[in-house]
Amino acid sequence: MKQQKEEKVKEKKQNRRAAKPAEAPHKTEEATKPAPGKTAEKWITTMIQDAVRQRSDAVHIEQQHEGLTVRFRVDGTLRPYAGPETSLEDSVLSQLKKMSRMKTGDERVPRDGRFGAIVDSREVDFRVHSLPTSYGESLALRLLDRATLVPMTKLGLQPDALAKVREMMGKPRGLILVAGPAVSGKTTTLYAMLSEIAKGDKKVVSLEYPIEFDMPNVIQSQIDPRSGYDYPTALRVVTRQDPDVVMVGGLGDADTARAALETVLGGHVVLSSIHASDAAEAITRLLGMGVDPYLLGAGLEGIIEQRVLRRVCPSCKQMVTPSATEREWLGMKPGQKIVKGSGCPECKGSGYKGRVGVFAVLPVTEELRDLLPARPQPNALRQFYRKAQRVALIPDGMAKVKAGLTTFDEVIRMGGYMPSQADAPV
Ligand SMILES: [Zn+2]
Repeated sequence: MKQQKEEKVKEKKQNRRAAKPAEAPHKTEEATKPAPGKTAEKWITTMIQDAVRQRSDAVHIEQQHEGLTVRFRVDGTLRPYAGPETSLEDSVLSQLKKMSRMKTGDERVPRDGRFGAIVDSREVDFRVHSLPTSYGESLALRLLDRATLVPMTKLGLQPDALAKVREMMGKPRGLILVAGPAVSGKTTTLYAMLSEIAKGDKKVVSLEYPIEFDMPNVIQSQIDPRSGYDYPTALRVVTRQDPDVVMVGGLGDADTARAALETVLGGHVVLSSIHASDAAEAITRLLGMGVDPYLLGAGLEGIIEQRVLRRVCPSCKQMVTPSATEREWLGMKPGQKIVKGSGCPECKGSGYKGRVGVFAVLPVTEELRDLLPARPQPNALRQFYRKAQRVALIPDGMAKVKAGLTTFDEVIRMGGYMPSQADAPV
């Protein structure tokens, strides 16, 4: 069955190659009024427009048991989207891969590709990844819009947190890590920091895989692990470029983490991100990889914990009376009100539009450096942070509820649990 499908796809691909120009998908705008009859191209064109207009970060197209499922990620949440007719499913997949200029021939290995589209005069880059699955494949399309580059002042950092980040960035050397799970806005924060640093008086080199945006005043170098140009290799040579600041996409393995810390000790500021729920987990992950605790203590300047929450829709927001639980957690007096979105066409009835970051900025202290050689467990580190630094994500989230930016439900969703008394705002 699967084999048949693959052959069918191949056959269609060959027909298409002969019949259609490869540039067709770029003419997104012109295709708004399709000719009669449905084709894969028309479905793709409409899908691209809808994805951009609904402010999606990603489109997920997956072959499932029951056929093709399509979902948009908007403000962090997946929304179903109407897929193509069954007869068009294979053509949609092969056409998307073709316009992404993916290598074809073997559908059983993961592939990367990209294509550009212009929707409502916005230039959007689609970065496409295909993964073979039990029912065929899964295509993930990430949308990268230059308009999503935000300055540091617009990330949602409170003034004291912003000051702490700027202080860390102003040091002559040190590793600054942004920690959070997937889709927590780490890349947005890294780019915001980069664009603040790269004003022309500093040499800034960023090592990326892949390069997501063109940044003025930044030397961007794309990593290519398949040809041996991986993060550790790039970090070892980057110092010869005489950089002040180096950005490394992510510290995913011990070699990269060590090379990043050694770059720091050579007298550079290094910005990077790590997949971890909080600072405590980031540190224990690095130690668990085999990074030397003294090296980590010497190089790490600070960790920025972060999440993104959905922002209350400005078009339908209204003042409402908080529930007893909300009033208790927010420390509000009777009669005080909070903001919620009632749902409108602008936000597709969700009551949310756009996002706001929630942060805890944790510079490394001498006490923390002293703790590291004992290889503390995450909970011990959490206790340390709670006692020593008195900043955490939940209170920052609660402050943003009180400021009318987001809702109590969003803060709970971020925590994945009911906050404990220890998380209550002080
Ligand atoms: Zn609304």
